[in-house]
Order: sequence, then C-alpha cells, then structure tokens
Amino acid sequence: MSKVLEVTDLKTTFSTPEGEVKAVGGVDFTINKGETLGVVGESGSGKSQIFMSIMGLLARNGRAVGSVKFQGQEILGLPVKDLNRVRGAKMSMIFQDPMTSLNPYLSVRRQMTEVLMQHKGLSEEKAAAESVAMLEKVQIPEAKRRLDMFPHEFSGGMRQRVMIAMALLCGPELLIADEPTTALDVTVQAQILEVLVGLQRDFGMAIALITHDLGVIARMADRVMVMYAGGIVEKGSVRDLFKDPQHPYTQGLLESMPRLDETESTRLQTIGGQPPNLQNLPSGCSFRDRCRYAFERCPVERPVLTPFAEGPDGVTRSKACHLPSL
Ligand code: SF4
Repeated sequence: MSKVLEVTDLKTTFSTPEGEVKAVGGVDFTINKGETLGVVGESGSGKSQIFMSIMGLLARNGRAVGSVKFQGQEILGLPVKDLNRVRGAKMSMIFQDPMTSLNPYLSVRRQMTEVLMQHKGLSEEKAAAESVAMLEKVQIPEAKRRLDMFPHEFSGGMRQRVMIAMALLCGPELLIADEPTTALDVTVQAQILEVLVGLQRDFGMAIALITHDLGVIARMADRVMVMYAGGIVEKGSVRDLFKDPQHPYTQGLLESMPRLDETESTRLQTIGGQPPNLQNLPSGCSFRDRCRYAFERCPVERPVLTPFAEGPDGVTRSKACHLPSL
C-alpha cells in the first residue's frame, strides 16, 4: 500500500516563561493512501500538535524537529511559500470550529473560488461552478443560492459542511480532521461523518481523524494510534484494539466509553488521576501514576513502543508498556 504520509521521530516543543513544554516526544507513524488513521487521546496528549506541526501551523513559540514526508517529499521546515503548494491543495485540515478556517467577512463564493483560482488556475466562472458542485457533494441544499451567503448565515452543521467542502476543493490526498464533529449534536455529527465516508469513497483520500471520541474512531477508522503525554502508547487495527486492548491506558479509555447495554456494575469507569505535567514528565512510564498494573520497573525504565503481534488483518500491533500482556 503506498504511503501518503511518513512521520519519523517527530518532536514538538513550546518554549514558555515557565520552561520548555514537550508536547510531542518523538513519534513515528505512516498513513496509507485511502485509509483512515484514528488518533485518540485526552486533551493535552499531543494529538493535535502532531498535525499542527505537520501543517506548519504551530504557534510562534512552537518548534518541531524530525522528519515528515508527504508523498516522499520532506515537508518539515519547508519555507512557507513551498509549504503552501502542498497545504490546502494536496493536504488540508478541518477543525472543530469552522470559523478557524472560514473568514466571517467574505462570502462563501469568494472564499471557495479564490482557492480554485489560486491553486488550479480556474476562471472565476468555472471556479464558481466547481464550488457549487462541491457544496452539493457535502449535501448543502440549494447550493447555488447559498454560495453567496456569509458563514454566519449557516447553521453550525451546515458551516461544518462548508468547511469540509473548502478543504476538499482541490482534491487533497490527505485530509486532517481535528475533532470535526465534537461541537455538533449527535444527529448532525452522524450526518457529517456519513458525508466524510462518502467523500473518502469518491476521492480515495487518506484521512487522519483526531478525536477523543472512541465511538467516532470505531465507526470511521481502519487503524488507530492512542496518544498519552506526547507519545504513542498503542497502535493497531481498530478491530484488534477494541477487541483486545493491550495497553492499560487504552483499556481505561475503552472502559470509560458509554455503552448501550451498561448496567449498574458495568457503568462508566473513569481513569483516575490527571495526565502528567509536560514540562516535567515523571521518570519511567508517563502513565505510571494512573496505572492499576504499575510495578517496580515502571518508574525506573521508560517503555518504548514495540511491535508485539500481527493482527488477523495483517496490521502490526505495538504498545509502550513493560507488561507482556494484559
Ligand atoms: Fe502501567 Fe507499567 Fe505498563 Fe506503564 S509500563 S502502562 S505503568 S504497567
């Protein structure tokens, strides 16, 4: 399977008056053509900062080192002018809040057509026709009329669709979706996810789906990587990982997922304690203060992400934990 994205030893830090914050502590992963990689973890686990680093969108005090290859080309540290040839066209990102991507002062027509004129060199007329077609693809009714509306004239769910349409205008190879449905109610969330699944089928793009919601991962992703305190603690196919989690943190996340068949005794367990301070990570395993299985080795030696099995679907499973199995 061809790789769209190959990330090697990516580290992201932020300098703050209180000291350096290690947001991402050296991660390796790939995303293949046409697949959906789910990236899950609590807020502050580093999952969004990985992709902000890849997109060159870190805050001014942020710095990313390592290697990020997009379709074989190194893009980490590219000058903005060169990065812009990739960003928005071949690789685009959508956010929880559509207003992060949409300009409230410009009509949707202006925002969409400018992208097409700039990246694909289309005439204004052709760009408008393609914009309408894309709004129809994300199931916006009366797309032609709505093209002239401003972002605030759309409902939350419709605005999210406009943002997805904008992100897909140039037919990207990779769509990075950062909590794309978190702010929406359950019904609209389901509709937006359906739209994304349909578009992925039509366009064959890869998706990196960043979320804290395991239900969304179960529904959408092929493979998943679980993040904790800036590191990947478990990776595998969604089926394997949900059926047989092998890292105590993944196990805890799954236990805290609401279930339809829950009873008094199975009701929502939460993971006790708080994630560690990224300015001052504990020695050994970052999860040790919250782990019910911690033993003598855990505070002394940092566990490394290591392959431990090949799932039935051929996807290698890895985890960062000293226990051989749970
Ligand atoms: Fe728990 Fe130790 Fe495994 Fe860390 S290495 S997850 S503390 S058992």
